[in-house]
Amino acid sequence: MYLDHDFAPATRRAALPRIRDDVPMTPDGYIRLRRISAGLSQHDLAQRMAALCIHLNERKAGQRMPDLVADMLTELRRIEQPETVADQHETIARLAAVLPIDADVYWQLADYAPERHPRVCRGCGTSAHDHDAPRWATRTSCERCAPAGDGL
Ligand SMILES: [Zn+2]
Repeated sequence: MYLDHDFAPATRRAALPRIRDDVPMTPDGYIRLRRISAGLSQHDLAQRMAALCIHLNERKAGQRMPDLVADMLTELRRIEQPETVADQHETIARLAAVLPIDADVYWQLADYAPERHPRVCRGCGTSAHDHDAPRWATRTSCERCAPAGDGL
């Protein structure tokens, strides 16, 4: 029979112990680091978000481009404020379309305790979940940001 086999069931290994993070990454810090790492100002990013909105035909009737950029800038400034989390998943999904961020990383930082956070480089905000996953120089720094390691 197709499903009848003699393989031993896989044994589940114990999870690796977590290393305590003394300065947990925050969702606002993640967005800020990724934006700066991409070489974008808040205004640059607001323009990209506004252009995406127009491209997706999601502009409100009569809304002009400068108004749209201003709205996006207000929202971006808000979510980069300390201890602030985006109200809507859609905002972060849109941001992920114009900035190299991982929306899942953002929500994990927002919704879970630090011991369940993904590893994020404090220099550039890249995480272990990115396509271009970094090699880690230290616990909190990728090799691009701290090639020699900072001893953590
Ligand atoms: Zn880095």
